[in-house]
Amino acid sequence: MTYSDTCRVCGREPVAWDQRTFEDVLLCEDHEVLCSEAARESMGRPIHETVFGTWQGTDRYDDDGREFVVCSRDRGHTSTHGVGTLCRWCFANHVERIRGHRDEVLGSCDIDPQDVRYLPELRRRRTLIERAYEQRIITGEEGVRVMERLVAPLRGRSA
Ligand SMILES: [Zn+2]
Ligand SMILES: [Zn+2]
Repeated sequence: MTYSDTCRVCGREPVAWDQRTFEDVLLCEDHEVLCSEAARESMGRPIHETVFGTWQGTDRYDDDGREFVVCSRDRGHTSTHGVGTLCRWCFANHVERIRGHRDEVLGSCDIDPQDVRYLPELRRRRTLIERAYEQRIITGEEGVRVMERLVAPLRGRSA
């Protein structure tokens, strides 16, 4: 992964470090709110109902006396963060999922506009765009732009 100083989801300006869930997971205001709320909501829920783990103590300590912790969801996630707090790796994975979903919603369509499946795909995409907009994964402007791009070949044909 390459180093970047912009939002990991959309590339916009990130919020200041003291507003971040994790200082090294950069997110713009919309996506910081989206991801931190999802994490907060998951707290206290049974582990199989959430994608977020919390750190659990191991009774082993590093040279500075900080306890090694493992994630309640994935034993492969380890750290010395505070016991009981949100797993940084689960959070970062969630951010990646949001980014992947966003790319899917805004991405190009690989069905030929002449194909009978193009219109149903357009309707499906429209629903995805509306939901993503409501969740603030994309902006209204981004949604309009991608819809215009997808509809353009149809307009060209009917003209
Ligand atoms: Zn963003
Ligand atoms: Zn984890």
